Amino acid sequence: MNNKSKMNSSISLDLDNQWAYMQVHGDKGWEKYPSYLNKFLPHVLEMLDKYKLKITFFIVGKDADDPKNLDVMKEITNSGHEVGNHSYNHEAMFNSYSKEEILDELNRTEEAIEKVTGLLPQGFRGPGFTRSKTLFEVLKEKNYLYDASTLPTWIGPLARWYYFRQSDLTKEEMKTREGLFGSFSEGLKSIKPFLWKLDNNEQLLEIPVSTIPVFKLPFHFSYLHYLAGASVSLMKAYLQTAITMCKITNTEPSFLLHPLDLIGGDLVPELDFFPGMDLSTAYKTELFDIVMEKFTSNFNLLNMSEHAKLIMQRKETLPIKIHN
Ligand SMILES: [Zn+2]
Repeated sequence: MNNKSKMNSSISLDLDNQWAYMQVHGDKGWEKYPSYLNKFLPHVLEMLDKYKLKITFFIVGKDADDPKNLDVMKEITNSGHEVGNHSYNHEAMFNSYSKEEILDELNRTEEAIEKVTGLLPQGFRGPGFTRSKTLFEVLKEKNYLYDASTLPTWIGPLARWYYFRQSDLTKEEMKTREGLFGSFSEGLKSIKPFLWKLDNNEQLLEIPVSTIPVFKLPFHFSYLHYLAGASVSLMKAYLQTAITMCKITNTEPSFLLHPLDLIGGDLVPELDFFPGMDLSTAYKTELFDIVMEKFTSNFNLLNMSEHAKLIMQRKETLPIKIHN
């Protein structure tokens, strides 16, 4: 399977459930923890199978603990995928938690995930990319292999101008797409894997979600989707730029998927308020095919732990950073 001439890339999926999206949107009813996992998981497992991909699912503890999800959740590890810890309650305030609160979140999630899938997580991703030094200390204490809670990007007027200049959009079309790139503020973070410097001379591996080297523009699937809304050829050109830049700068990407990248409003009508949910599951599947064909032909796709272990073989070469 492994092709030595290809660069490695990891691939993961944050298994955010219906209630988590409803909570962010302020929708009543999220407290009952409505779940789409029985519809989403069979669909995504089939798609991953098609490309013989074995990826990492970052699972929310609350969902692994919910009896209605158990049967479908078992299929994640039955199909050969890996599990990661995505916190217990998926709380936006996670970065302000005390050591005790973090330990409680991690332990409960591990217990629930192991009970349902038979595997223990070896990596962590914070809800909404939240993180803290206390979190890293706890992960290290618990022998986690890596953290994956950073998304290093800045995008704003300059990025928009750059990509519009390359596109065939008319002035009017540009005007209607002014919000295309949103706003982010994490542009000073490293794109390549690095080590967090911890107390007592300890270190923890960080594998950032990849953005385009140098430009630091995101290219995780939700973002590609957004571009495809403007034009599928724009999305393809953008993805090609991302891949080329990874190769030029010798950056092994870590690619991120979200459930709403792969399912449309036809499968989950309750989330039709969400951007992109007016699109059908079939259309999203077609886009996924385009992206995955590009990825599989350019990279050896690994799960997060496999990637982490390979990165740690060159530990001495990794930059060391301090979290502030
Ligand atoms: Zn999440």
